[in-house]
Amino acid sequence: MAVKAIRGFKDLLPPESELLTNIETTAREVFSSCGLKEIRIPVVEKTALFARGIGEHTDIVEKEMYSFTDRNGDSISLRPEATAGILRAVIEHKLYATSPILKLFTMGPMFRHERPQKGRLRQFHQIDVEILGTDSPLADAEVIWMAWDILNKLELKDIYLEINSLGCPKCRAVHREDLMLYLEGVYKDLCDDCKRRAKTNPLRIFDCKNEKCKELMVRAPLIKHALCPDCADHYGQVLDFLESFNIPFRQNPYLVRGLDYYTRTTFEFIAPGLGAQSTVAAGGRYDGLIKELGGPDIPGIGMAIGAERVLIALDKDKQKLDEGIDIFIAALGKDARFETSSWLPIFRKEGLKVVMSYEDKSLKAQLKQADKLNAKIALIVGEDELDEDIVIIRNMKTSEQIEIDIDDLMDKVLELCKKD
Ligand code: ATP
Ligand code: MG
Repeated sequence: MAVKAIRGFKDLLPPESELLTNIETTAREVFSSCGLKEIRIPVVEKTALFARGIGEHTDIVEKEMYSFTDRNGDSISLRPEATAGILRAVIEHKLYATSPILKLFTMGPMFRHERPQKGRLRQFHQIDVEILGTDSPLADAEVIWMAWDILNKLELKDIYLEINSLGCPKCRAVHREDLMLYLEGVYKDLCDDCKRRAKTNPLRIFDCKNEKCKELMVRAPLIKHALCPDCADHYGQVLDFLESFNIPFRQNPYLVRGLDYYTRTTFEFIAPGLGAQSTVAAGGRYDGLIKELGGPDIPGIGMAIGAERVLIALDKDKQKLDEGIDIFIAALGKDARFETSSWLPIFRKEGLKVVMSYEDKSLKAQLKQADKLNAKIALIVGEDELDEDIVIIRNMKTSEQIEIDIDDLMDKVLELCKKD
C-alpha cells in the first residue's frame, strides 16, 4: 500500500500553492515598504528555548509541541512559532549591536500538535514580523498597520482588529492579586485546564474557549482597570496612531492571547467568515522577553499572520494567478526538435514563457498540450519548414496560422506575445 501523508500535514498543490506564494509576495512588498529585513532561522531548536521563550504554562509548550530526543540524547522541538527563534538568533549574533532598532521578518512552516480541523493544521505557515529596540507606540501601530495593509491588499472582506493592553509586570502584579481573589470564588466551576491555570497562569483563563469559563470570566476584574499611568498612556497613544492610520479597531478588554511573555499592546485580526478559527493574524509587545532569553534589556513587538487561514478567507476569483505560457514549440521529427530546442534559452532570455514537448508526438497531440498550457501561440516546425527556413505561427485563440521567415521570427513573436 502506498504511504500517505501524516494527519494534519497538508500538501499544498497548484493552484493553492501559488495562492500561498501570492500571499507571501504581497507581504514582502509591504515589509519592504516599511524597511524590514528578512531573517531565516532553523525549523528546529532546543526545547528549552521554547519553554523559556513562550512560557512553561502555555498551551503551546504544555501540549502542542513536537519534541524529540535526537541521537545525542538532546531534547529538540519543531518550532511552533518564530519569535523565540528570531530572538535567539538576534542574541547569539549580537544583532542588537549593529543597529539600535531591528526590523525583521520571516516566513515559513510552524508545527503544533493540535486536533486538525478547518483552519487548524499540524504544519501551517506563518508570516512573522518583529521590531526590536523600541517601546514607541508608533512601532506598535506600524506592526498592526503591516498586517492591516497585507490583508487589505489581498482584499479580505470584513476584517476587523481587536486590541487590548496587558500592562507591564507592575500592573500585572496588582491585577493578578485581584484576579486570584475572584477566581477563588468561582474555582469549583472552572474547567480542569482553568483550575490548573488559576494556580500557574490565571490571566490565561480569559483565553479559555470553554463556554462556562467564558461566562464566569465576564465579571472578572479586568487588566484595563489596573494599568499604571505609563501603560495607560502608551495604550492611548497606540490607539491615536491607529486612528491617524485610519485603521478601525474594537477594544476587547478580555483579549489576553496565548503566550506568557506578552506585555502592553496585544491584538488580533479577525475574519468573521472563518467560523471557529477566525483569527488570521495576531501579535503583541513582549518587553521583558529578550532579557529573559539572555540578551540585553530591550523591548520588542511582533505579529504573525496565519497563511492557511488567509488562504481560506481569500476571494479566489480575485487572485491574479499565472495564467499560462507564451509559446509552445510544436516540432515534428527528430531534426526539427533538435533545431528548435536551441530556441528555448533564446526566448526565455527575452522573458517569454516557452515550453516544448519532451517526446515525439503528432501535431494534434502537441497542439492539445499547447491548449492545455494556455499558450498564446504555437510555433510549428516540421522537416519542410526546416529546409525552407520558415516557421508556422499559430494563434492558439483564433487558430489562425501564418508562415514567416525564420529571420523575422523573434520580432514577430515579441509582437504577438507582448504583455498588455
Ligand atoms: P488559536 O487561538 O487559533 O489557537 P493562537 O493564539 O494559538 O491561535 P498564535 O500563536 O498567535 O495563534 O499564531 C498566530 C496565527 O497563526 C494565528 O492567529 C493563526 O492565524 C495561525 N495559527 C496558529 N495555530 C495554527 C494552526 N494550528 N493551524 C493553522 N494556523 C494556525
Ligand atoms: Mg493555538
